[in-house]
Amino acid sequence: MQDRTYTADAEPGDEVTVAGWVHEIRDLGGIAFLILRDSTGRIQVKFEKDEMDDELVETGLGAARESVVSVSGAVEEEPRAPTGVEVVPETVEVIAPADPELPLDPSGKVDADLSTRLDNRTLDLRKPDVQAVFEIRSAMLRAVRERFRELDATEITTPKIVATGTEGGTELFPITYFGREAFMNQSPQLFKQLAAGSNLERVFEIGPIFRAEEHNTPRHLNEATSIDFEGAYCDDGDAMDVAEEVVTAAYEAIAEECADELDALGLDEEFAVPDGEFPRLTYEEAIERINATGELDEQLVWGDDLSTEAEKALGEDVGSHYFITNWPSEIKPFYIKDHDGEPDLSTGFDLMHPRMELVSGGQREHREGQLIEGFEQQGLDPDQFEYYTKMFKYGMPPHAGFGLGGERLLMTILGLDNIREAVLFPRDRQRLSP
Ligand code: ATP
Ligand code: MG
Repeated sequence: MQDRTYTADAEPGDEVTVAGWVHEIRDLGGIAFLILRDSTGRIQVKFEKDEMDDELVETGLGAARESVVSVSGAVEEEPRAPTGVEVVPETVEVIAPADPELPLDPSGKVDADLSTRLDNRTLDLRKPDVQAVFEIRSAMLRAVRERFRELDATEITTPKIVATGTEGGTELFPITYFGREAFMNQSPQLFKQLAAGSNLERVFEIGPIFRAEEHNTPRHLNEATSIDFEGAYCDDGDAMDVAEEVVTAAYEAIAEECADELDALGLDEEFAVPDGEFPRLTYEEAIERINATGELDEQLVWGDDLSTEAEKALGEDVGSHYFITNWPSEIKPFYIKDHDGEPDLSTGFDLMHPRMELVSGGQREHREGQLIEGFEQQGLDPDQFEYYTKMFKYGMPPHAGFGLGGERLLMTILGLDNIREAVLFPRDRQRLSP
């Protein structure tokens, strides 16, 4: 629509055409208002029944809520109007009528459960607080991209249809690929390493990962957005620095660019950018601290993975973002390098938000012999990964990196209760459409 004006840009004295949804009709008798909504806000359209053309009044006031209408007329100052201005219509056209029976109330006056909201996402997204989540998601991803570029990383995209999985066989989605078995990729791990071993040296990817997670939880999706980094000549400490910078950059951009959206979510007062470095606890220190909280029924011992309860107890104790470093080698994947001379101690790390894990990373095993041993220890057949291990014969520099869950980042930044709120069309055990 060529000459359309956003409602937020309509100034007194302008002749405008505004187009959007009928948010509400307020009929006061002789005078009635149509509140028109677009992506920038709302504007009041005034109908004076006795003074205006009957057909114009009928068209405007007869439009069902959420119909799309176009209104042309003069913008006038009106201190009593919600935005201080109103449109006096000369023409009104219903571009797309809405069924008066709405499955969901986009004005937000009537609450809907998450399932109804996700089934009717287009209507749900017409609510300012829901719209705000996705405006912020966009700003977050832009900030992350920019920070990676500043850190000299090149954006790559890697295949999502693959012959083999890397994170253990249980979480794979099998598909049929021209009569052969293939899988949806769980992680760009091996491909980003192959790229980091090239002259690109530092790479990042923002893309989907697919995991056939066993359970429905508030922080697991079956299709998630992974923010991945891999850098040649980096060690675990360097990768942690990058993870910290990227996470902080996301907060900073949202604080700077998204004041209106934070306001729509009721977060403008309390929104805080993490300041300073995130503490780095070793795994050993972490389990000691968890045991000292007395929150767990059974004390943790070296080699235990951290349960959800353990993560929660530690998160409450630390109270900010923090890293857990130096994990036992046996609970980290084969591609994570051990500390030199300490085969039980890995360079693997996790970055934690007090509520949950955000990142896993580490230095990678770049020595071909040790890498192949690692495959065997994890019960994987190295022959199936020959496309990957082969490249370790031709000069693979030491390298390190991480994977950061995009939805978990957004969810923890905004304090969302359920990760599904951070995705337009989430995939979980029950939900395959829309
Ligand atoms: P968790 O133990 O919390 O299930 P994980 O250790 O299996 O996570 P990783 O393989 O380490 O996950 O993946 C790196 C990051 O990707 C995680 O820290 C998390 O932020 C994100 N992530 C992994 N799986 C999912 C998922 N199913 N849904 C959403 N995000 C995920
Ligand atoms: Mg992990």
